[in-house]
Amino acid sequence: MSIEKAVRVRFAPSPTGPLHIGGVRTALYNYLLARKLSGTLILRIEDTDQNRFVPGAEQYIIDSLKWVGIVVDEGPEQGGPYAPYRQSERKSMYAQYAYDLIENGWAYYAFDTEDELDQMRKRLEASKMQPAYDSVSRMGMRNSLTMPADEVKAKIAAADNYVIRIKLPRNKELRFFDLIRGWVLVNTSTMDDKVLLKSDGMPTYHLANVVDDYLMKISHVIRGEEWLPSAPLHVMLYRYLGWEESMPAFAHLPLLLKPEGHGKLSKRDGDRLGFPVFALPWKDPDTGETISSYSESGYYPEAVANMLALLGWHPSGNQELFSMEELIAEFSLERVSKSGAKFDLQKAFWFNHQYLQTKPLEEQYRLLKPLIDSKGYVATQEYIEKVILLMREKVQFAKEIIEEGYYFFVEPRAYDEEAIRKKWKPDTAQNVLGLSLAFGKLNENADAASFETIFKEYCESSSLKTGEMMQPLRLALSGAATGPPIWDMLTLIGRDSTIARMQTAAQKITATTK
Ligand code: GLU
Repeated sequence: MSIEKAVRVRFAPSPTGPLHIGGVRTALYNYLLARKLSGTLILRIEDTDQNRFVPGAEQYIIDSLKWVGIVVDEGPEQGGPYAPYRQSERKSMYAQYAYDLIENGWAYYAFDTEDELDQMRKRLEASKMQPAYDSVSRMGMRNSLTMPADEVKAKIAAADNYVIRIKLPRNKELRFFDLIRGWVLVNTSTMDDKVLLKSDGMPTYHLANVVDDYLMKISHVIRGEEWLPSAPLHVMLYRYLGWEESMPAFAHLPLLLKPEGHGKLSKRDGDRLGFPVFALPWKDPDTGETISSYSESGYYPEAVANMLALLGWHPSGNQELFSMEELIAEFSLERVSKSGAKFDLQKAFWFNHQYLQTKPLEEQYRLLKPLIDSKGYVATQEYIEKVILLMREKVQFAKEIIEEGYYFFVEPRAYDEEAIRKKWKPDTAQNVLGLSLAFGKLNENADAASFETIFKEYCESSSLKTGEMMQPLRLALSGAATGPPIWDMLTLIGRDSTIARMQTAAQKITATTK
């Protein structure tokens, strides 16, 4: 029986800009698997490409993961037995592996200039061939396979610009297993001899990624589908470096698709359709532009994690709401789907709405207090918590409780015009005033049932249908056509303010209908 390898997974972003929500999902799946299998989650920053380095991006990645509740075990912040976890700090480790490959005949030096490479591509394109540096075209290029050995030696001794390329075999079937896609078959003739070591001595993504996965004893490579085309090359590298025995299992996650269902979800889709594609606000260091995010749009991190988990993975039953602990217990790579997952804005709202219903009132109060203060509303904690209870069923985001339910704090600013047209009749003002006088008989702390009783008595004695009076009453109180249960609303607003609002409405609305 083989001894199971310890589960070690990694999230390996390049800090080239703000972490896209698809990247957060990749990190989340890594985290869920690590926790489920009592393994370790590593954060490795792949920053060897200094040209694409964006200041602040690494911290942004770290903060985004924390925000959704992903806990990293080893990484630039935590350290760990395989430190450093930033590739730029591991620079000196990679080159030796490229030279080992040359030594063993699996790689070669290439001296071609940019111009020569360009000409080669043009030549191949002109003859309708793949413009690739590969097992065929390399024989017409300037490299250690085609040049005399002493010339190669002299060039290297003179530290002439060179790169090291992998030497792939021609026309060989390559097979590897992907935990999500099953067996993947590729012919090496479709692959090119990728550069492993650049002329500045820095590794390319492929070399650094494979070397680090090996050195950090990674057991599963879980990453986006966009990396699937690189996987055959990585498999060849494991083979050539003599590491095939310890090659990690691969799992390529389905793409996050546009809401329309085709094409990868991009920031532009977010802008176009009005939803964020970043977890946290991002300020572009060049333009100073701030891009909106889930956090400042008012999403709960738990709702975002829950929504992301279900974009591409499905649980065994029908349950949709999962805490992080439940996700960990339920997660498995077998139930990650092969096909892309369509981003659904309504569903994102739905998740947030669901979490809004169960959040402790005290926590919601603390969250909303600064907003309430900024608007200059004055109310006790007890009152605000009652507003939250009445309003949260109606909204998707906590801040809407205050924005839509502003009338719990101040008199209505405006009255819904359509509702006026439909429900405000010539004698309505008279009846609203009459009812307000009737409410005057209530005591100061009247409850919902007392308001309702007086209302019914008034309608009966004035030969009005309750339906005729209900909407005008709501309009007078809130200005809106819909809202929380009316008697609860009245009770909270209180007898005196209710009467005052009814009198104001009778006057103002009547004035607008004349
Ligand atoms: N640095 C790559 C990225 O930016 C990592 C891909 C991988 O996980 O191998 O996504």
